[in-house]
Amino acid sequence: MSEAFDIPFTSDVVPAMLSADATIKFRCYKGISCFNACCKRADITLTPYDIIRLKNRFDMGSGEFLKKHTVPYEMDADRVPGVKMKTTDEGACLFMNEEGCSVYEDRPTSCRYYPLGHLALHHKDSAEDEAHYVLIEESHCKGHQEDRDIQIKDYLVEQEVAMFKEMNREWLQLILKKKSGGPSVGKPPESSLQLYFMACYDMDRFRRFVMSDAFKKSYDLPETTYEVLQQDDIALMKFGFQLMRQVLFAENTIPQHDQAWEKRSQEREEVWNARREVEMARYKKTEDDKYKNDV
Ligand code: SF4
Ligand code: SF4
Repeated sequence: MSEAFDIPFTSDVVPAMLSADATIKFRCYKGISCFNACCKRADITLTPYDIIRLKNRFDMGSGEFLKKHTVPYEMDADRVPGVKMKTTDEGACLFMNEEGCSVYEDRPTSCRYYPLGHLALHHKDSAEDEAHYVLIEESHCKGHQEDRDIQIKDYLVEQEVAMFKEMNREWLQLILKKKSGGPSVGKPPESSLQLYFMACYDMDRFRRFVMSDAFKKSYDLPETTYEVLQQDDIALMKFGFQLMRQVLFAENTIPQHDQAWEKRSQEREEVWNARREVEMARYKKTEDDKYKNDV
């Protein structure tokens, strides 16, 4: 039994699964008769790393980038949030121009894989996820008619997928674990879903949350960690994945202040003691009143 997550291509067609060693017949180049046809029907799910690459390319804050270039959607029945690239009303990618892709060096993961769909498979009895690929053969894409054989692993090198694959790995594991956990993980509360959105997509807001006094009081992290998280988007992204494993699956990924709980208990105990003293005083007065005429 396994669960699959596909970034991000969704299609009614279910093609055969291929390994990285499989050979495909494909070439895409400027000047091909269908040039830009794929980008005119863009349905692009963005990964957290895709967002970092693109927002930094435009020197934008994450909030501004999300507002200007993305639309939210729900990734599953439990309303786990995802974001897709905004398109024109006709479905064309806003980054497409006459020359092709205007953000080519920072194009998202799914644009790099195309015409491959990437399926991460999680087997219930294994700690490792398996990567498989499907070849998406759409009629508008003439690249399949080109006379070039290439192994999938070489195509992925050509498309410079490695860094994206590495950076997306923990996020995919998070999603797969949520999916494969099924009802045992349960539907996350709204507050967890909001935190997930912030940690995975809205990094600037997540950074402010992590730097807040309330967060620092709850989690036991050295100041050097906060200095890194303040500066480094990738470190913050990975920290967000760790935090979500703690929030969604109760894994002990980030140490909490030992004394935070004790301090809270101590404060509560003081309140309980004060209440008990008031109750005792009231009880004593009642008893005194009851017996005062007997004296
Ligand atoms: S980001 Fe670039 S490659 Fe991807 S759909 Fe848009 S224009 Fe096409
Ligand atoms: S060959 Fe396929 S991937 Fe390349 S431009 Fe044409 S439709 Fe897009």
